[in-house]
Amino acid sequence: MTIKLFNTYSRALEEFHPLDPAGREVKMYTCGPTVYSHAHIGNFRAYLFEDLLQRHLESREYKVHRVMNITDVDDKTIRGSRGANVPLAEFTAQFKKAFFDDLDTLRIKRADSFPEATDPREIRKMIEMIGTLVERGLAYQAEDKSVYFRINKFPDYGKLAHFDLEELRSTGRVKSDEYDKENIGDFALWKAWDEQDGLVKWSSPWGDGRPGWHIECSAMATQLLGDQLDIHCGGVDNIFPHHEAEIAQTEGCTGKKFVRYWLHCAHLMVDGQKMAKSLGNFYTLRDVIAKGYSGREVRYALMRVHYRAPLNFTWEGMEESRVALGRIDDWVRRLKENAERPTSNVQRRTADSSGFQDALDDDLNISGALGVLFETIRETNRRMDAGEMGAEEAKSWLEWWKGVDQILQIAGEEAEMPAEIAALAAARVQARLAKDWRKSDELRDELAARGWEARDSKDGQKVTRRGGS
Ligand SMILES: [Zn+2]
Repeated sequence: MTIKLFNTYSRALEEFHPLDPAGREVKMYTCGPTVYSHAHIGNFRAYLFEDLLQRHLESREYKVHRVMNITDVDDKTIRGSRGANVPLAEFTAQFKKAFFDDLDTLRIKRADSFPEATDPREIRKMIEMIGTLVERGLAYQAEDKSVYFRINKFPDYGKLAHFDLEELRSTGRVKSDEYDKENIGDFALWKAWDEQDGLVKWSSPWGDGRPGWHIECSAMATQLLGDQLDIHCGGVDNIFPHHEAEIAQTEGCTGKKFVRYWLHCAHLMVDGQKMAKSLGNFYTLRDVIAKGYSGREVRYALMRVHYRAPLNFTWEGMEESRVALGRIDDWVRRLKENAERPTSNVQRRTADSSGFQDALDDDLNISGALGVLFETIRETNRRMDAGEMGAEEAKSWLEWWKGVDQILQIAGEEAEMPAEIAALAAARVQARLAKDWRKSDELRDELAARGWEARDSKDGQKVTRRGGS
């Protein structure tokens, strides 16, 4: 088994080998949200690709250490807090919370840490890195008091994006607000305070101001994962200038190769067009959920296309996802029924389908992997129809499915309700039968605290996972 990943830096498929001498620990950094509004489905496409990558690596017994940053200070967050007339921290807090709720809805595994740009520890690290770059002549303070990275001093600048940067390098004083820079391509490491920033400022050796977005990721990644990462992910939009800048800043400070594998997720289109508020095709996750789709349906719809291929989001696609998940649910239900039957006199077979993981080894070939899953469903359904499947075999397919769903995370509720949740749900039914409403409410709160929702109807209690169907 060898995992191959497409590295944006080399533009080639490469065998994956982490830096860890034992070859098991993987350091992974993923650019996170800017918390000035609810994240849109294009953002979540990238987060789901990263989730799939992490889960697949884990299924291959790698230990993944993942960091995802939260950008809670930049032009947009400052503008938003001014518009809402609340302090920056208060303004961003609501969107941080919404972001984590959305991750749960989509069953995205939490990173090990979610450092925030405004955390004093992170700000200190950013200032320290900028200081090193200034000392080494890789950065300079301009007349506008901001500090910029001097791209002419970093020969590798442009290698990730495969840009011919000669044009960018030749001095061009294009934008009037950037007249202070030596070179039009130089990017800000520290932005000097101005009136628009209001109370948002930190002191630094270069005066009051705030960090630029790029340095934020370099600082957090190295602070939490060390100077060298195995994998760095993001959307294709991040390649230039953001990731290019991260390389220049980090390697400028450490003198070591920053990232071994750069992975980027392609765009999400809606009805064949770029998603844009002006086109009326701009959707947050909440917009899609409000149309009656469940989190796992959205998860499936955004995950089923290879991460490097553009994905066209349509409502027909959402319906197809619903149908596909329905087929899986039916299949699992049938397998369970078969597994309960006394073993009949049938040929004994056990599940054998390594093709699913093999497909994912090939640069996360999800279409190939789903092809294996649905072929398996077709074939095993046929055998169940013909009465050829014994209980032992059904059990072994259920085991197989458990492994597959550890990666996909698309199982229906019933199939995956943990025993402790089932016990709480059963206790609540008992409490309601005994008309112990206080106990019933307590149990509902306890379920809610674990991410499950209990609802009562004339047909009785229904317990569903948040984001489930
Ligand atoms: Zn980043």
